[in-house]
Amino acid sequence: MADLETIVNLCKRRGFVFPSSEIYGGFGGFWDYGPLGVELKRNVKDAWWRAIVQRRDDVVGLDSSIIMSPRAWHASGHVETFTDPLVDCKQCRKRSRSDELNAGRCPFCGGEVTAERRFNLMFKTFIGPVEDEASVAYLRPETAAGIFVNFRNAQATARKKLPFGIAQIGKTFRNEITPGKFIFRDREFEQMEVEYFTRPEQSETAYRQWIQDRVDWYVGLGIRREHLSLYEQPTEELAHYSRGTTDILYAFPFGESELEGIAMRGDFDLGRHQAASGEDLSYFDDEANERYLPHVVEPSAGVDRSVLAFLLDAYHEEPDKEGTRVVLKFHPALAPFKVAILPLSRKETLTPLAKGIWADLRRHWMVAYDDAQSIGRRYRRQDEIGTPFCVTVDFDSLQDNCVTIRDRDAMTQVRVAISDLVPALREKLDM
Ligand code: ATP
Repeated sequence: MADLETIVNLCKRRGFVFPSSEIYGGFGGFWDYGPLGVELKRNVKDAWWRAIVQRRDDVVGLDSSIIMSPRAWHASGHVETFTDPLVDCKQCRKRSRSDELNAGRCPFCGGEVTAERRFNLMFKTFIGPVEDEASVAYLRPETAAGIFVNFRNAQATARKKLPFGIAQIGKTFRNEITPGKFIFRDREFEQMEVEYFTRPEQSETAYRQWIQDRVDWYVGLGIRREHLSLYEQPTEELAHYSRGTTDILYAFPFGESELEGIAMRGDFDLGRHQAASGEDLSYFDDEANERYLPHVVEPSAGVDRSVLAFLLDAYHEEPDKEGTRVVLKFHPALAPFKVAILPLSRKETLTPLAKGIWADLRRHWMVAYDDAQSIGRRYRRQDEIGTPFCVTVDFDSLQDNCVTIRDRDAMTQVRVAISDLVPALREKLDM
């Protein structure tokens, strides 16, 4: 597998990810997705939405506001307990989380550290012109709370019966003490979360099923199964509200780390919001003829961490006659460009035909066009950004109305009629 630096460099060089505010020296824990990164990230989110919302009949979507009533964050327990233990080094002055210390000493210089203090990870802001305690609000540190407070709205309007879920993708903010490892730990990131509501006795089965479904999702999009592992948290590690949590770990170059967490949250969240708001959030089960608070299973995934895992898993270096071919073997659904049009020459005779094909294909997919330098170099440029198919337009195309499709992974070439190009590519891309 590639090391992190190789991926960081590729991302910068080819326009996947740039440091935020780079011309001002960057800004720790914040990143910008470039022309290719925005496509990759959007494709990851679309693939998740398709699997979770479009293809299932028991999950509906939601897009709630990032800034919510602060009362919600008091009720959820975040104001009180969403904290990390923080220490300062007395020698080098660097800040660390207590769980990152090296035998109780600073992980950077080995110096002595201060006593631990709790640090709340929520970013604060003020609503309105007066910056006082009464106007404090928070940027959400997870998307889940927006789902819980809309449980009744979504359930009633979508007319869903248990079990059913509400899914949301959106920006999240955490004032992480030690952001780093590229886009693995950010201060601004995106999450893809589902709150899946069940009858209490269905919760455990749903939990096991979600773990399986989520592993299958990553594998179906190209992550090698052997790079994933499951970590079931032992009872003593569980958060107080959790009745079971399993993390899906990915073998990152810096060690196995969490990609997604799946938690059985019982009725903790609905119960807390019901108590704090005074609103009845119970569900009337007309089959059982009883009213109760549903139990919840929460699969919570990070978009940016998934993007990093997909990049790492796709990265291959293969020997070829010119040295090494770098290729991102993305699943076609994730590849920023699905196809690249490569006219063999820039001659006026070929350009109109090639540009016409380009315009035609762009109606269906993101398609690149490259007529600079040798065809070999152009294949390599597309391989390096994971474009699954290149279409070469040559002088014969003017006569026989055919073009050549070149496959990124097998490197095979087939000739097809221009009129068959869209169906042929559709079949190969399976989309
Ligand atoms: P960690 O232990 O790594 O801080 P967490 O257990 O706090 O993560 P959760 O609160 O379970 O994370 O959030 C769900 C998902 O959101 C994580 O699995 C991860 O993919 C993503 N995530 C959490 N924190 C960050 C972050 N700072 N940057 C990027 N993604 C994150």
